[in-house]
Amino acid sequence: MTEDMIPMNPEDLMNFNCNFENVCFNDCCRDLNQALIPYDVLRLKNNLGISSQVFLKTYTSLHYGPESGLPVIEFKPNPDTGYECPFVTPKGCLVYEDRPGSCRMYPLARAIARSRETGEITQYFALIEEPHCKGFGKKTGQTVKEWLKGQDVDRHNKENDKLMELISLKNQILPGKLEGAQSDQFYLGLYDVDAFREQIFEENLLDKINLPENLLNKIKKDDEALLNFGIDWVKFMLFGVKMTFGE
Ligand code: SF4
Ligand code: SF4
Repeated sequence: MTEDMIPMNPEDLMNFNCNFENVCFNDCCRDLNQALIPYDVLRLKNNLGISSQVFLKTYTSLHYGPESGLPVIEFKPNPDTGYECPFVTPKGCLVYEDRPGSCRMYPLARAIARSRETGEITQYFALIEEPHCKGFGKKTGQTVKEWLKGQDVDRHNKENDKLMELISLKNQILPGKLEGAQSDQFYLGLYDVDAFREQIFEENLLDKINLPENLLNKIKKDDEALLNFGIDWVKFMLFGVKMTFGE
């Protein structure tokens, strides 16, 4: 972790208060360079009631990691508005209930280490003190753990960890740059879930994979089940990991 980050333990006091009365209100939603994880995309497109294709095209930009070939999805920068988030309004976040995990975490950063033996995850936290953010030094009596609970970020972190595991698998099995078709599969299975569903049910994408009927029925209706299946599908297609069908 870098020098301007202050390591924090879950029981430490945050001394931080984000409030609409702060002079910096909404400043953290400008000058964005914010990557979205697949679960962020899923929550946001459902909040807006649009398909993943429309969401990705309208609100995000896509580029590929120059060395990994992995797709990176970010909020689309808009220089006319000072690179602000498409969802920031004078009253705050338009998609607050479904805001991305990184918005929930700020100004905390989280890193994880996974035990090779047990797979158990250890979390590390640090506060990022940036000059524009005036929420610091305000005593709220809240610990890091309590503050995180209030942000309802646990689910996002679990989904983020699944993506990290997938990337770590890619680095072990395919350490170089993904080919175009492989990057496309990664994008389809993880980010563009509605197009993935369409290809499964209307274009026989899985005709060589004998999926159990109950799983097919589930992924037809349930976006989160489809995303979990998408991760397994990418593992199978790109890295040859046997699909377990949730067993
Ligand atoms: S999604 Fe909401 S909280 Fe996150 S940057 Fe945009 S306006 Fe801010
Ligand atoms: S800059 Fe900091 S205190 Fe101000 S609104 Fe953003 S997170 Fe809250």
